[in-house]
Order: sequence, then C-alpha cells, then structure tokens
Amino acid sequence: MDVSELGEFGLIDRLTAALGAPSDERLIVGPGDDAAVWRAGDAYVIGTTDTMVAGVHFLPDRVAWRDAGWKALASNVSDIAAMGGVPSFALVTLCVPPETRVGALDELYAGLRECAEAYGVAVAGGDVVSSPVLTITVALAGEARRGADGAPRLLRRSAARAGDAIAVTGPLGGSGAGLRALVEGRAEGDARAALVRRHMRPLPRVDAGRAAVEAGVRCGIDISDGLVQDAGHICEASGVGAEIAIDSVPLDTSLVVAYADDARTIAATAGEDYELLLVAPDAVIADASARLGAPLAVIGRIVEGPPRVRVLDAAGNEVTLERAGFDHLKRA
Ligand SMILES: [Mg+2]
Repeated sequence: MDVSELGEFGLIDRLTAALGAPSDERLIVGPGDDAAVWRAGDAYVIGTTDTMVAGVHFLPDRVAWRDAGWKALASNVSDIAAMGGVPSFALVTLCVPPETRVGALDELYAGLRECAEAYGVAVAGGDVVSSPVLTITVALAGEARRGADGAPRLLRRSAARAGDAIAVTGPLGGSGAGLRALVEGRAEGDARAALVRRHMRPLPRVDAGRAAVEAGVRCGIDISDGLVQDAGHICEASGVGAEIAIDSVPLDTSLVVAYADDARTIAATAGEDYELLLVAPDAVIADASARLGAPLAVIGRIVEGPPRVRVLDAAGNEVTLERAGFDHLKRA
C-alpha cells in the first residue's frame, strides 16, 4: 500500500497511532485540532507548523516570491487564530536547491517579514539545508487567552453541540478562485488581481478569534481545506452533524465577477480562505459579532446525528458537490 491510498487524513491517523498517546499532563490539546496546546508555568502555549513546497503549494513561475513568503507564515498564524490565540515566535526552515537565485530568497523573506510585522510575530531562529525542491517550513508558537480563573480560553473542534449556529467571519471562495485564475491564466483585470491577492496574501483572523473567545465561543476551525471539509472536521471531533444553507454563504465579490456560474461551489469547497468557522449558540455568535464590530454570517446549524455535513439549497434539498475539499495525498 502506498500513501495515496490512505490519503492525508488516514496517514495522519496512522502516524499519530505509531507515536502513541502523549502522556504528559501539561499537554492540554494533542493531535487532531488546528494546533497543539501545552501549559508552561501559568501560560498556555499554542504550537503549530506548516510547510509550503514550490510547485505544489505555490507556483514560482506564476506568483511573486514575496507573496509566497507572506503566505508561508500566514497559514500558521491562521491556525493560532483558529485556537483563539495570539501568535508570538516563529522558527523558519528553508530547504533550498543550490541553484536558486538569491534575489528570489530575498523576496521570499521580505514577504515573510511583512507578515511577521503585521501580526506581531518575531522570527527567533531556523535552519537552512540543501534540497532538490524548494520548501519552506514555519513552526509558530502563540499564547492562549486566559479567563479570570486562569484557565485557557480555546476554540476547539470538539465543542460543537446540536442546535448551535455555524458562522463564518468573512466571504469565501476568493482564494480558490485566485488559484483557478493562476492555473488557467485567464480572468484578466482587476477581479483577477484581487483574487490572486486573496490566494497569496490571506489575512488570518486573529481579531475574530479573539472576539469569539471573549464572547464565549468554544468551537472553531480555520477554513484551510474548504468550508464543507473543515465543517466535517468539527462534526467528526464533536460527534454531531451539520447543515449548511448554501445560499447564506457569503461570497467574495471578485469571485462572483470572475466565476459567476461556479461561485457557490468554489466558496463551499475551495480552501485557503483562512476565515474562521465558528460554532456556538445564536446569542454567543451575536455577542462575538458585537465585540468584533462586524456581523458574523450564520450559514447553518449543528444537528444531532452521524458526523456528516449536508449542504442544502433554498428549498431545503441536499446539494451534491463534486468534492468536499482538499486532500494533500489522495489521488484525484
Ligand atoms: Mg487549521
């Protein structure tokens, strides 16, 4: 058997089992959420890591190196936001073919620095090694907010309850449409530039994660794999079902301009928008909106039943989607 038969999530399960259950009592959140959390003195450290491979996660001949550097850190910042935390320190590992232009790496790291400055992250170290493929890996630490009792206030995938509202923090589909515009090389003009920017310069929602935990939201995930798939991760972890009203999903305006016919499908299934999916009772979602100063869009509801996401049209009929989201290893 090779790994393409297992797929990304099957492989994660297998590797996690091989390592055995972590037994350290300071570990608060182990494998299976957006990031790990452990106690260090009075603080709760959030840790995550993410890798970008040239030619797989970004196309060096079609995007700016500076944008790739931004995104390498931003995807990690988003996982800290998805736990309700604040990012702090990063370690950066660069695997680089020796024939790489130095100017390209200057740009890559300039973009990384821009993102670090925008989100208050300090790059504290890293490693550089020779490799046949250019790869950049960021490991990012953050800190969880704590309540008056000193306990961490976290957004967990496992905290959804039947009856909870499902909300998103912003329009979806822009990043997926940006990727499509890059690959197809069409949809010229302002809409294309906006979409490519949405794909390469995502703005992780640390602000929304903060408003959410302060309001009492305890369940969330960032939309990195695609709305339906990420909602599915919450269903699996919480042992509940979800119903999403496709017409209530907010759409990126440039997405609608460039890909009107496929806009809803792209918004439901394409990844890397890096908005947050938040799950809580309606009143708590309303409080989070008030604290954020922007309305969260309620797009569905958690229901009793098997861990499955049903996407419904305006008439309440189930919509069949080609695929739910992205798997890094499965064969198409
Ligand atoms: Mg995530």
